[in-house]
Amino acid sequence: MLNESIINLEQKNIFAKVTEKISEFRKKHPEADIVSLGIGDVSRPIPQTSIEAMHRAVDDLATMENFKGYGAYYGYDFLKEKILENDYRDFNFSKDEVYISNGAKTDTTSILELFDINSKICIADPMYPIYRDGARCLNRNIYVLEALEKNDFVLQIPKEKYDIIYICSPNNPIGIAYTYDDLKKWVDYALKNNSIILYDNVYESFITSNNVPHSIYEITGAKNVAIEFRSFSKKASFTGVRCSYYIIPNEIDNGINFAWKKRTINRFNGADYIAQRGAEATYTNEAKIEIKENIKYYMDNANSLRMCFKNLGFKVWGGIDSPFIWVKIKEGITSWEIFEKYLSDINVVIIPGVIFGINGDSYFRVSALGNNEVINKAIERLKKYYEKNN
Ligand code: PLP
Repeated sequence: MLNESIINLEQKNIFAKVTEKISEFRKKHPEADIVSLGIGDVSRPIPQTSIEAMHRAVDDLATMENFKGYGAYYGYDFLKEKILENDYRDFNFSKDEVYISNGAKTDTTSILELFDINSKICIADPMYPIYRDGARCLNRNIYVLEALEKNDFVLQIPKEKYDIIYICSPNNPIGIAYTYDDLKKWVDYALKNNSIILYDNVYESFITSNNVPHSIYEITGAKNVAIEFRSFSKKASFTGVRCSYYIIPNEIDNGINFAWKKRTINRFNGADYIAQRGAEATYTNEAKIEIKENIKYYMDNANSLRMCFKNLGFKVWGGIDSPFIWVKIKEGITSWEIFEKYLSDINVVIIPGVIFGINGDSYFRVSALGNNEVINKAIERLKKYYEKNN
């Protein structure tokens, strides 16, 4: 007997339909020069310092003196120390509260195993669809809270009590970030209702606004209610290497880290040693410079995309604290219809907003993580298209 919830997931994979449609189009029009604004992957390489560290880590495995095998179920101390010194210096966490893993995609769903199976889980619509589909696979009780344009897609505090709330900030797909004020309301809600906030902060390094916290723990009381997730994927181009981390504060519950370690030792044999050495090296001064340059590269793209759509008369969100830009369709058609239109008329790929939830169907997402030349090409085509069609 298979898990019905997996069988009933709407699609094999949320982006599979986009890929399928592009290949169908390519078959019919092999000459088309398709450019993508949809890409969620990075287009800059891993910092050289991390590459060198990973080469050394491979060499470690060649002698039993330096070999690393089983054992570091929750991550190596060398990486936890760097994370605490650099990302969480002001919050007085211990290494016991830090976990290294192989991706925030996995982590943001796996963490549900820590909580009662009957917990009421609140997710946004639109949202990063993995929260919804991951929770469904585990047969959890999901409740959808609408993120609406009139609130700039920031989730508003509900009247009902939920046990677990997913907050993604800086956000994918909307590209906005929660301010200190927005987050304080949620932390206060969680404190009052004994809820847990699962705070997906994988785009932290893209934050530029002063009124956006770099960690939820900057909000008073957050240590009692929030688990924060981060990743090296977008920051340091580890999308293929795989390394992430998260914090479970002891303040949430006296036994929380004891319980989670029991679970983890039974479910996970630890993140890759080579990846962790590469991740450790992202905290060197040299790598920090390279990362800063890469982020600037993406955010310059984001600015060009924002300005392009704005100048063409679209309403846009994001692109200031996140590499994503959320665009309102001005033609009054659905997000799949605009996808088809751009693909056939100008060979430009965007991501239909409905992929992120039904409330996303009047919007589409573009990503600034792509190659600069490709993005500029798409911008030129969009400009020409609207010059003709406006
Ligand atoms: N969380 C969000 C909001 C994302 O957009 C992504 C990747 O696109 C992830 C998590 C997954 O990150 P990782 O590569 O660490 O699994």
